[in-house]
Amino acid sequence: MSVLNIARLGHPILREIAKPVDLKALTASGGDNELQQLIDDMIDTMQEEDGVGIAAPQVARSLQIIIVEYEENERYPSQDDIPLSVYVNPKITHYGKETASFWEGCLSLKDLRGLVTRPQEVTVEAYSREGKKMVVEAKGFLAVVLQHEIDHLLGKVFIDRMTDLTQLAWAKEWQTYWTEKESDQGPEAI
Ligand code: ZN
Repeated sequence: MSVLNIARLGHPILREIAKPVDLKALTASGGDNELQQLIDDMIDTMQEEDGVGIAAPQVARSLQIIIVEYEENERYPSQDDIPLSVYVNPKITHYGKETASFWEGCLSLKDLRGLVTRPQEVTVEAYSREGKKMVVEAKGFLAVVLQHEIDHLLGKVFIDRMTDLTQLAWAKEWQTYWTEKESDQGPEAI
């Protein structure tokens, strides 16, 4: 397991459509399964970088793999926990009608925060790292994180989803001018 370099905005891979994962290759047995190794390395990288999620293009791999994880702590007490989950070939199959706005960050745009409006509920179909079909009905914070990460597989980053760029800020200034108190802070970077 190892920590990989993060592709930052400007790296062309962040603008590509990621390739689907071959499920046979994903589940092939043997100690040197490259896709399983990549998933382990992505988990290490996300945790090392304090991310809430990571997508394979962010480690410069054009593959449809995302990972999410969030544990509530004192710095960010307002969000629900998200258990560590791997989504292979994820697709959003349903969007709820109601929307909500959330200050997003991104490991590939690390010091920026932007207010993004997205549907509050989504249904995501995907495969687990063991190749099992999953259907996840997500709402709230998890729905935001999944939409953000799946966007990376479509060559999109959160600023593409913003409708008002006056609500884009450096993290430090955002903390100074846009948050009223420590407990209102969002996650470090999705
Ligand atoms: Zn991101």
